[in-house]
Amino acid sequence: MFPEIVVDLAAVRHNVRALREHTGVASMTVVKADGYGHGMVEVARAAREAGSEWIGVATLDEALALRSAGDRGRLLCWLTFPGADWAAAIDADVDVTAYTVAELDEIAATGRPARVQLKIDTGLSRGGATRDSWPAVVERAKQGERDGSWRITGIWSHFAASDEPDHPANDAQEQAFLEALELADGLDPEVRHLANSAAGILRPSSRFDLVRFGLASYGLDPAPGHTPDLGLVPAMTVRAPLALAKPIPAGAGVSYGHTWVADTPTTVGLVPIGYAEGVLRSASNAARVLVDGKQRAVRGRICMDQFVVDLGGDLPDPGTEVVLFGRGAHGEPTAQDWAEVAGTISYEIVTRIGGRLPRRYVDA
Ligand SMILES: *Cc1c(COP(=O)(O)O)cnc(C)c1O
Repeated sequence: MFPEIVVDLAAVRHNVRALREHTGVASMTVVKADGYGHGMVEVARAAREAGSEWIGVATLDEALALRSAGDRGRLLCWLTFPGADWAAAIDADVDVTAYTVAELDEIAATGRPARVQLKIDTGLSRGGATRDSWPAVVERAKQGERDGSWRITGIWSHFAASDEPDHPANDAQEQAFLEALELADGLDPEVRHLANSAAGILRPSSRFDLVRFGLASYGLDPAPGHTPDLGLVPAMTVRAPLALAKPIPAGAGVSYGHTWVADTPTTVGLVPIGYAEGVLRSASNAARVLVDGKQRAVRGRICMDQFVVDLGGDLPDPGTEVVLFGRGAHGEPTAQDWAEVAGTISYEIVTRIGGRLPRRYVDA
């Protein structure tokens, strides 16, 4: 074997279906950032096969790349900037998001009939029209519908703390969204949407016409400690062969800086992937991996190309499979386990994995 990322597209399809059934509304599968590290094109295809009505991406370039790869169907992008190639997006049949009157003017200037969604900032203070600018954005949007510049196909917003169901921002944002919809009276969008994975699962009142499912589509838990068991299946497994196993004496320091020192004679194994592959250095001396059916601790610092695990006296053959993380069904750690020891979220674990690792797709 060789180091690789294995992505189970059957798991993606299963998750997309399970989520859609759970919510009872249309779903948008979010495949930005190369499908959270799982492969944008392949995940989008699987999601469409599983009945996802929409695909969502951040950038216009991602949307165009999907279309070039043969993706058809409703596709929304939202992270645009002045001077973006709106014409290319419209020609590629992409729904674009506008936050400001200036962006709407740019879209109108293409002279092409567009499909536009308006984003209102309900409290994340990231993208989106401010509450103060909203009436003017709505007026400009109506004018464009009258003169044939576009159809407003959606009005939407994004939560700040949907992974904390009791956070007061959730109620406040939902209320602000309802007010924005009222102020948009006269527009008749196909879809009004607010919820991402955590809100879509945990907060029925936030589902409106559509839920934008990113993380949960990949089988990961968007709100650890709060999410009910929906039977989601993690789609990504990262594995590598053991490059070497050898004894070290008591007192031997392991890896750069000798941040771990063997207090008894032991054996260690070398795993030939590192932070260049997105194995987070902050998981040094903390993460665990599965070697030959047993969880083993990472010892010392994770390096650019490799790291070392404690084999506790065993000497498995070089070439033995090492699973960094996967479904968790066979004793291997999960991306969530890595997130906890690295002080981050599972989003970052899977999205950062890559570098020199090839991806292999399976239908398990
Ligand atoms: C990334 C993103 C999502 C998906 O979020 P998850 O928490 O992964 O479900 C939804 N909406 C927007 C605007 C996003 O940027």
